[in-house]
Amino acid sequence: MEVKTSLLDNMIGVGDMVLLEPLSEDSFLENLKNRFDHNEIYTYIGSVVISMNPYRSLPIYTPDKVEEYRNRNFYELSPHIYALADEAYRSLRDQDKDQCILITGESGAGKTEASKLVMSYVAAVCGKGQEVNKVKEQLLQSNPVLEAFGNAKTVRNDNSSRFGKYMDIEFDFKGDPLGGVISNYLLEKSRVVKQPRGERNFHIFYQLLSGASDDTLSNISISIFKMNAMQIVGFMEDEVQSVLELVAAVLKLGNIEFKPESRCNGTDESRIKDKNDLKEMCELLGIEQSVLERAFSYRTVEAKMEKVSTTLNVAQAYYARDALAKNLYSRLFSWLVTRINESIKVSNAQAKTRHKVMGVLDIYGFEIFEDNSFEQFIINYCNEKLQQIFIELTLREEQEEYVREKIAITRWFYISVFNMLYACTYTISHECLRPGTVTDETFLDKLNTVCAEHQHFESRLSKNSKFLTDHSLPHSCFRIQHYAGKVLYRVEGFVDKNNDLLYRDLSQAMYKANHSLIKQLFPEGNPAKVNLKRPPTAGFQFRASVGTLMRNLQTKNPNYIRCIKPNDKKASHIFTESLVRHQVRYLGLMENVRVRRAGYAFRQAYEPCLERYKMLCKRTWPHWRGPAREGVEVLMADLQVPAEEFSYGRSKIFIRNPRTLFFLEERRRQC
Ligand code: ADP
Ligand code: MG
Repeated sequence: MEVKTSLLDNMIGVGDMVLLEPLSEDSFLENLKNRFDHNEIYTYIGSVVISMNPYRSLPIYTPDKVEEYRNRNFYELSPHIYALADEAYRSLRDQDKDQCILITGESGAGKTEASKLVMSYVAAVCGKGQEVNKVKEQLLQSNPVLEAFGNAKTVRNDNSSRFGKYMDIEFDFKGDPLGGVISNYLLEKSRVVKQPRGERNFHIFYQLLSGASDDTLSNISISIFKMNAMQIVGFMEDEVQSVLELVAAVLKLGNIEFKPESRCNGTDESRIKDKNDLKEMCELLGIEQSVLERAFSYRTVEAKMEKVSTTLNVAQAYYARDALAKNLYSRLFSWLVTRINESIKVSNAQAKTRHKVMGVLDIYGFEIFEDNSFEQFIINYCNEKLQQIFIELTLREEQEEYVREKIAITRWFYISVFNMLYACTYTISHECLRPGTVTDETFLDKLNTVCAEHQHFESRLSKNSKFLTDHSLPHSCFRIQHYAGKVLYRVEGFVDKNNDLLYRDLSQAMYKANHSLIKQLFPEGNPAKVNLKRPPTAGFQFRASVGTLMRNLQTKNPNYIRCIKPNDKKASHIFTESLVRHQVRYLGLMENVRVRRAGYAFRQAYEPCLERYKMLCKRTWPHWRGPAREGVEVLMADLQVPAEEFSYGRSKIFIRNPRTLFFLEERRRQC
């Protein structure tokens, strides 16, 4: 910890939780509330920023504020997300360190806003000039494009991101942005066909309907309707048109309905109710109507060089329709990300000046609903991994600083919760996502057996069960003890969602479309393609991409923003203690403070330390001639601070206990 000037002066409550005395969960919450009530939404835990969602715009993101935080030491000013952004940007530019900004918190806590604040801060303080400005503008405008297609109104958040996003921004030697790369994680595509009560579909559907003129809608020619952000990001007019045609096609697809028709053999076959809807969709995408109609009526299975077609009943036809809608939309979304990446990527000419990277991770937070399904399972798995990384990296960071400063670690510590966490992630990643099971029920059986075995082994290491089997569990459910709490998952639909099956007849129909974008999205529909190997399951793909992400993050210097939602009403000025307490617990914030305090709570470079306290000693006041470190040594000796309370590092003094700092501050006030 550097000079804590403004963390101690004129501060509402305590700006850094590490300084909290006495430290308890109650005092922690009290401090958060006190600050929140005074519009202080940011509080530190050492270098970690806690951000409380104010649910209203505060005048704290003005250009003046940017100037205020620019090139200042992290602890010089009152806590702010800009301080973190500035610190990360400067260590990237001046100390050659790749950075990552890890933003966590539950839905509606303010993660996406935080990621945008970091990006706009960096955009404001880095270089200017025509080229650089164009890059900046493109990077920033990729947000509204992705939000239009990937965000939706939910019960928890009016603008909830329904996909995970990680963006690497690449900089040159001067610290100017050259471009970036976006990775997206698992769009919640089930929303395309079904939204929970009180929630909406992705924004773009409404934007399309409200933005397009009546004429446009009746002609289904959408060329008049333009999205400015898409233009800035570099989409061509015909690309925008194609994208919107696809969105409209998904809407049309949703209108297609089926009715049963009895056959003489006693079975029911599905028929399309009103061919008009089908016709419109086909016209939009340049698909021959009979081709799509057939694909909605039959399912062809190819086995040993033989093709067998079976008719679909109404339920299967609806299943096929929904699978197509979900696939169309999610593939379109992935295509958008790829297309944006093409625009924002570092040009070949500039590749050799590429120097350092800042990654910004904004990923869905932990979700515990009444009914938790595959989506929650996947999301929580990812959060479990992130938490693991958070712990590993904070420990590593502490340890590295001690080594760098040549401080002997006399009181090193491991907190038992870490072991439990490993056990948990292990269980999930190795067992629960294993593909190849047949039905939801057999999947559950497998899960139970495997986890029981694992548990037996684990129990010798840790008494805490992560996979919880008890006989009170409702039918078809399993429960996992996540770090954030116990979650009950219902296995219904797990296997389906994991396999994400799209009948081949439909992908072939899409491939036949006279529409270049659609064709691109369904490459497996190419009849020339003989390799019929099943694509990897959704769970498998997700696990692989999360693995890659974690490896990427581990190579970078982490900066943490922990977002907290103050109430469940999306309301300003309301601090619901129980809700905040829950988040403080599962974000592990108390452990975080304890880790910071268990070693040396404060660290301060010699010069600023001497500057601040030299008035406390006759020999150092008003001027100390000589190395700052010696001045500090004289000072500490003069003040008779017990030797075990501090250590001298190479460039900083390390103070073990907050009390010592308060003692110094108190003396200073008395001067
Ligand atoms: P998350 O991404 O964590 O789900 P968001 O970042 O979308 O949450 O925030 C939800 C809403 O809360 C935003 O749409 C905005 O209205 C409000 N909000 C979040 N952070 C801030 C902030 N720093 N200042 C003002 N309002 C905010
Ligand atoms: Mg979000």
